[in-house]
Amino acid sequence: MNTFRPVCWFCGETYEIEPIYTCRRCKGTLDIQYDYKQVFSQAYFQPLASAAGNEIGRFRELLPVWPNQRMITLGEGGTPLIRTNNLFNTGNNQSLFLKLESVNPTLAFKDRPLAVAMTAAVQFGLNEVVCASTGNTGVAAAAYAARAGLRCAIYVPEGTPEEKRSAMEQYGAVLHTVKGHYSDAYRVAEEMAAARQAFNLTSTYMNPYAVEGNKTVAYELAFQLGKVPDWIIVPIGAGPLLSGIYKGFKEMKLAGFTDKLPRMAGVQAEGCAPIVRAFRDEEIDVQPWSDPAQTIASGIADPLITYPADGTRTLSVIRESEGIALAIADEELIRYRRLLAEREGVLAELSSVTAVAAAAQMQQTGLLEQSATIISIVTGHGLKDMSAAINHTKGSV
Ligand SMILES: *Cc1c(COP(=O)(O)O)cnc(C)c1O
Ligand SMILES: [Zn+2]
Repeated sequence: MNTFRPVCWFCGETYEIEPIYTCRRCKGTLDIQYDYKQVFSQAYFQPLASAAGNEIGRFRELLPVWPNQRMITLGEGGTPLIRTNNLFNTGNNQSLFLKLESVNPTLAFKDRPLAVAMTAAVQFGLNEVVCASTGNTGVAAAAYAARAGLRCAIYVPEGTPEEKRSAMEQYGAVLHTVKGHYSDAYRVAEEMAAARQAFNLTSTYMNPYAVEGNKTVAYELAFQLGKVPDWIIVPIGAGPLLSGIYKGFKEMKLAGFTDKLPRMAGVQAEGCAPIVRAFRDEEIDVQPWSDPAQTIASGIADPLITYPADGTRTLSVIRESEGIALAIADEELIRYRRLLAEREGVLAELSSVTAVAAAAQMQQTGLLEQSATIISIVTGHGLKDMSAAINHTKGSV
């Protein structure tokens, strides 16, 4: 029996389980809702906390996967949580942990949403997938499509790192470079998916099935720490990772596994920060970032042009959690990438370094409580955009 269905995030209209991306009534993005009474009737999380195996498939009752559906997996999830020793001032008894999503099968967290979305594509009997990507979604889509035996077409903006482009091609995907920024690629992918009846895996809130994969970060964090952290700092493009993590904790609370929720900090690069701008200006609605995106953090450079409501959704989650949104300058990213590698042995993608630089900034500005436990999500591996660092050092970026 199916215990889930798509529901409009904005107006609450409910839908059948089908390849659907927006509400037919209000055009809003969708969310998956579950019959929690049924799922949680067997004290759901407790046995999983000590269960063997790391794959996200162990949480399948809380993923939009039919009971008999084989999951498409490359062993994603079960990533390390390590405590920093030398990077963070531990004066106030605060501790900073890093969740190393950089060691997933394609070296970024996107493997979680893509494993779920590719399983959904197979479930729907589709044989082609399409996505727009700043890089990591495309690499994960290409890998999981190869695993599932589906055709895959990817639309990336100019300036996507060579490492990611060439990985997509190695996995056998068809790669198209779109003139302009990420939002231009988003539009072309949307048109192509409709024209070809392909499943659209673009990792904004476009695909409600994909977003659910991000919840598994929350379940793992709670088990690994043995408690709910005070703050979770997340690099955000449109923000489904941040929202997914928060939703995961809310489910654990609903199940009676915890009674606390974390505060969420969303981090963008100063050169493309539509959500941060709206937070600072105390706006409810996020506006698109109309200046050209100017940052070396290509993985999170999403100007949200034509879909600013995605940013509004993320901002509302940040506010609900009593969190904050902040932006980091490129020079700080270069500096912290080096510090993180030198002092902790962790090489992170520039987009991911935002979460570490933000932790330091939040500490320095007194935002963190005494004895707070803080998690920075290291969303991607430094090897995925090494050329950006090399070019920057040479002065060509
Ligand atoms: C996609 C991505 C993000 C942003 O995640 P969203 O869920 O799109 O907001 C952050 N860091 C890296 C490395 C990414 O690839
Ligand atoms: Zn609606």
